[in-house]
Amino acid sequence: MRVLVIEDEVRLAEHLQKALKTIPSFVVDLSHDGEDGQFMAETNDYDLIVLDLMLPVRDGLTVLRNLRAAGKTTPILILTARRTKEDIIRGLDYGSDDYLTKPFDMGEFLARCKALVRRHHGRPDPIIQVHDLIIDTRTHIVRRGNKEHFLPALQYRLLEYLAYRQGAVVSKTEILEHLYDYNWEKFSNVIEHYIYELRRKIDDGFEVKLLYSIRNHGYMLKGPAACPDGRSDSAS
Ligand code: CA
Repeated sequence: MRVLVIEDEVRLAEHLQKALKTIPSFVVDLSHDGEDGQFMAETNDYDLIVLDLMLPVRDGLTVLRNLRAAGKTTPILILTARRTKEDIIRGLDYGSDDYLTKPFDMGEFLARCKALVRRHHGRPDPIIQVHDLIIDTRTHIVRRGNKEHFLPALQYRLLEYLAYRQGAVVSKTEILEHLYDYNWEKFSNVIEHYIYELRRKIDDGFEVKLLYSIRNHGYMLKGPAACPDGRSDSAS
């Protein structure tokens, strides 16, 4: 899940980035003014935007209004020192999804971020299930049959993303854009390796395969019900 934090206080922005990165499925980009932030939000497909209101160059409410006017549906959490009821109502009216005033509790901030991403993907439940594969997005423990895995961060991120999009073919480009930050080029050759590792952990030893490689298109995680011909091409 790729997150954009638009916050001009550099130390706070870096603190938020560090905290968000403790969630293994999150990668975080930073922007320090409203104009640049809006540009980044328009040109990338983020899963969540954390937006300060008092920003240089362009204020946060204008950024919010512009993004919604442009049809961007990315969940937006406003994080601001403004705390009057009018400010909060205005922020929500302009299309923000949640609102947190400074100073705030970091645990609450992270919980709200995770909830927004889940709701955005239409999955308010923190447990994602794909056939008999269970992914707990709170603990990042993955279970199938009697096998339980605590996956390395990059593998977990990939599996969770495929699970949120279960039944859909997800291209390598989409994976790279959502799962890795601006240095994603260096990951482009390791996706196959992560897929191999994931397949070894969740499919090996099970008759029903869940993880598919669709040649020249990408990857798909799905249960047997969604499989048109019941055939697994996991050997490809
Ligand atoms: Ca500010």
